[in-house]
Amino acid sequence: MNIFKKVAGLFPAPKTQADNATRIYARCNHCGETLTARVNSTNDLSRTDEGGYFARKVLIGNRRCFRRIEVNLHFDPARHPTRREISGGVFISEAEYRAERD
Ligand SMILES: [Zn+2]
Repeated sequence: MNIFKKVAGLFPAPKTQADNATRIYARCNHCGETLTARVNSTNDLSRTDEGGYFARKVLIGNRRCFRRIEVNLHFDPARHPTRREISGGVFISEAEYRAERD
C-alpha cells in the first residue's frame, strides 16, 4: 500500500481547467469591445472576512480603447461563484462573446 501512495504522490491526478476556473465575458461600455478573462479559483482568490473568497480582475481592451473594466467576483467558502459586479462594462454570455469574435 505504501508503494501505491508514493506513486500517487509522484503523479498527482491532472485537474481539468474547467474544474477550478471561472471564465467571464464582458463588453466595454465605451467602445463595445468584447473581452474575456479567466479566474482561477485556486490561485486568484483571496479570503474575505466573511469566510468566502473574492477575486478582482481588470480587463483592458486593445482594439479601440484602453479603458479599464473592473470585475469583482465573490465566492462561497467552497469556492463556488456567488455574485459578481462590473464597472466600465456589462457582463455578456459566452455565446455573445463568440458571435462577435468569429
Ligand atoms: Zn473600450
